Amino acid sequence: MYQTTFTPLSCYSVMKIRFACGLLFSYSLLLYSCSAQQKNSPAKIGPTMETPGKNNPVYSRTDSSRVNLSEEEWKKILPADVYYIAREKGTERPWSSPIEHSSEVGTYYCKACGNPLFKSDTKFESGCGWPSFFDPIKKGSLLYLRDRSHGMDRTEVQCGRCKAHLGHVFEDGPPPTGLRYCINGVILDFEKSSTKK
Ligand SMILES: [Zn+2]
Repeated sequence: MYQTTFTPLSCYSVMKIRFACGLLFSYSLLLYSCSAQQKNSPAKIGPTMETPGKNNPVYSRTDSSRVNLSEEEWKKILPADVYYIAREKGTERPWSSPIEHSSEVGTYYCKACGNPLFKSDTKFESGCGWPSFFDPIKKGSLLYLRDRSHGMDRTEVQCGRCKAHLGHVFEDGPPPTGLRYCINGVILDFEKSSTKK
């Protein structure tokens, strides 16, 4: 039945319809991606947009006393993505953190407890896919642990105040330290410096 009516003319009409549908589809896709981008853009700025330590009674940027909570308590006060990195030693997807390429001047804090960790002037682009620093804000702000998981021998870096897993440190960084602190962006809170350097 269809084959008998399938003349060059109807073929042309079908093509026209297909072309129109294609245009409509691309247009709606464009609209969708624009609105999706608009919707996502505030979240991309992430660390500076959220209230630091919201619903987190141990969060403090000035109190340096150690934090010792049970896993259940951490689970209640940390957002799921932060809990996964901090307490389950998770790793965010490479190239997923907007912090990796950020060159803003300021301080990076532990998102789980507010402990100051790194200054932006020790941040560099290592190309490894995660935010990278060559020196912590002070020696005691981090803890170092040998990590032999996944068939590798690495040095894990934890927050010196709350023992949140942050990432790892490698000895292939730039001078003056020669170190590369490879840190999950999810566990970092950023505060822009009020005075420009
Ligand atoms: Zn911490």
